[in-house]
Amino acid sequence: MADSPATAAENNIELIRASVRTLCADFPSEYWQQVDRERLYPTEFVTALTHAGFLAALIPEEHGGSGLGLEAAAAIMEEIHGSGCNGSACHGQMYTMGTLLRHGSPEQKRRWLPAIAAGELRLQAFGVTEPTTGSDTLNLRTTARRDGDHYVVNGQKIWTSRAEHSDLMLLLARTTARDQVTERTGGLSVFVVDLREAIGHGLTIRPVRTMLNHSTTEVFIDDLRVPAANLIGEEGRGFRYILDGMNAERTLIAAECIGDARWFIRKAVDYASQRVVFGRPIGQNQGIQFPIARAYAATEAANLMREKAARKFDRHEPCGEEANLAKLLASEASWQAADMCIQTFGGFGFAEAYDVERKFRETRLYQVAPISTNLILCYVAEHVLHLPRSY
Ligand SMILES: Cc1cc2nc3c(=O)[nH]c(=O)nc-3n(C[C@H](O)[C@H](O)[C@H](O)COP(=O)(O)OP(=O)(O)OC[C@H]3O[C@@H](n4cnc5c(N)ncnc54)[C@H](O)[C@@H]3O)c2cc1C
Repeated sequence: MADSPATAAENNIELIRASVRTLCADFPSEYWQQVDRERLYPTEFVTALTHAGFLAALIPEEHGGSGLGLEAAAAIMEEIHGSGCNGSACHGQMYTMGTLLRHGSPEQKRRWLPAIAAGELRLQAFGVTEPTTGSDTLNLRTTARRDGDHYVVNGQKIWTSRAEHSDLMLLLARTTARDQVTERTGGLSVFVVDLREAIGHGLTIRPVRTMLNHSTTEVFIDDLRVPAANLIGEEGRGFRYILDGMNAERTLIAAECIGDARWFIRKAVDYASQRVVFGRPIGQNQGIQFPIARAYAATEAANLMREKAARKFDRHEPCGEEANLAKLLASEASWQAADMCIQTFGGFGFAEAYDVERKFRETRLYQVAPISTNLILCYVAEHVLHLPRSY
């Protein structure tokens, strides 16, 4: 008897998970320790994922991708992180893709998507955050002024991750002054900037070294000319387009956190079962067992919300509440698991060779970026609980 569509989809996702794990097995601890130590971009890993088609998961088949949904994309990111690898070098492509897919013109999709799916072009960079305005995106200062068949862009971005390893960057800039817009969210526009042409012609990238290997940068923009053909959708509606992609982004981030949390829990269980102190495995002590069990409970609960968010997204149902809750709960669960794991390992948790300290640094990011916990709580308070807007 043939599988029901739901069972077939689940089987398909299990196959995807297994293939991601197989690919990740070729990138062991030593690889990640080296790229982390030397702050290298994991080019070989990203190339392998690209060739296997995983980074084109969300691109429709007609444009050369696999046309999968968010559930499958989340499974890919979770397995990468659950295998001890890190998807931050390439997740940008999954996050940003939705803006181009949903709001790009047919011509723009034809121009970029097949090349991205084939691995010939990388769309990994996303320039939203600015040094002076931070989470207050509507207040951003970068401007784009129409000049014939181009826009002239001026401003500065910070934390533009992977800009040095990307061919294209999605850029959010103000096209109408804030005091001249009728709608609060109006006046911002999204552009695809071709970094291969822009660098040295009005755009400069400077790396920012951080506590984790994230290839993040600051970007200086000075009279950069961007073809008007690279404007996504309508001028002035860019913030809406970016917001549209947030639910997918938050769900994918939650999946990465779940992968991290499961990695920490597995590591802690193995270590606690083997490490013998005072004549017995440390995992026999409730003081060690209980934090592991708590981290497990938090992770599985967060995962249910992550699954709910992805399923609703794939059914085209509103999922702002679920995506935000999933990101909140999963980022807290992964941090709880990270803290538990380093405590379980004792001194060895701080040694590079065990990977715990690296993953600990990596997973801490998710409570700050791509959106901080407080801003998620603001969303829940205002849009779910209908409390007065606080900011
Ligand atoms: C490694 C890394 C990679 C990143 N990659 C990218 C990228 O590729 N592209 C990009 O555009 N951005 C990126 N970011 C930026 C990231 O999205 C921001 O750091 C994040 O949104 C927080 O903004 P901020 O750092 O300006 O903090 P701020 O907005 O200055 O906030 C600082 C703190 O104050 C809190 N806060 C602010 N306002 C309120 C309020 N009203 N109520 C309660 N609390 C408040 C925040 O929650 C936060 O804890 C990255 C950041 C990092 C660290």
